[in-house]
Amino acid sequence: MQILGNNVDRLVTVEIRPRNFPHRGFISKLYDEARERLGGTPLTLLAAENIQKNVKDNDNVIIVTGVGYLPFFAHGETDGPLGAACLARAVSLGLGAKPIFVVGDHDLEPVKWTAKAAGINIEEYDIVKQTRHTGGIIPFPYEDEQGEQIAKEIIDKYAPKALFSVETLGPNRKGVIHSAMGLSMTSGLPKLHHLFVEARKRGILTIGCIDCGNEIGGGAIEGEVRKVARYGDACRCPCKSGIACAIETDVTITATTSNWGAYGIAAMLAVLVKNPEVFHDADTERRMLEACIMAGGVDGISLRPIPVVDSISCEAGQGLVTLLHMIIENGLKGEEYNREI
Ligand SMILES: [Zn+2]
Repeated sequence: MQILGNNVDRLVTVEIRPRNFPHRGFISKLYDEARERLGGTPLTLLAAENIQKNVKDNDNVIIVTGVGYLPFFAHGETDGPLGAACLARAVSLGLGAKPIFVVGDHDLEPVKWTAKAAGINIEEYDIVKQTRHTGGIIPFPYEDEQGEQIAKEIIDKYAPKALFSVETLGPNRKGVIHSAMGLSMTSGLPKLHHLFVEARKRGILTIGCIDCGNEIGGGAIEGEVRKVARYGDACRCPCKSGIACAIETDVTITATTSNWGAYGIAAMLAVLVKNPEVFHDADTERRMLEACIMAGGVDGISLRPIPVVDSISCEAGQGLVTLLHMIIENGLKGEEYNREI
């Protein structure tokens, strides 16, 4: 299982984004640090094992994502919603859990339609409770104090057994939320990190998928982000405290894109429950990406509504999904090929 986890980790951390977005060698530094800090187990395996241990049939799981921010990301980007939908699908099909998305208003449409494209319907909570393969979606406030209060109410009401974040920007040690380019985005983003702070106080499993270090989960490797990320330690906003997010999660997955971190987790969950279908296929990958951009999501590098994630083409994303599937399927086979010669 460790070897499978290693192979999945290696695939989802292959560096193929454009030079300087981020710079060469960056992802492997964050990955090495996260893996060491979390005890040395492959990160995707560690996350999947913890999910399987904590999440049972009919349990709620909260999933946050979205960088919807006016005017540049009016409905978010393509990195985030796909990983969130993939995880929703994985916990639904693999564990019978109920995914509840919590997002800012700007991200509601792309997250909803990407989830549907992944085969998870989105309905009111009363319906979610009574049906399979259905999830809920809840808007979250942009105002800080209100966010703190609503976070407690959401955790009280839904009693989630796990919280996932995929590419959700989170505050640094001074409470300022930054773009990867070092500017403050604090006023224009929902304060979703309060959910994670509250969950950790209550001992609920938290997992963060990140690709830069300014996202929820980056706090687990804050020192390394400060050292290696552009603007990690010194931002371009008046706070002067760097983009490194201070919000920790129990497991932090650092990957080529945050989506791929989520894909790695879902792939390893598919292995643990011995069902390859738990991880989405290449056709679903294309449908999710199209749904996301048609609902307003843009590529995070070019800021255009094209079927691209952080400058990685749809075909490349589909290729990754196909390779992960092959690892899962062949990883679950073996005994039938026992032969003498
Ligand atoms: Zn700053």
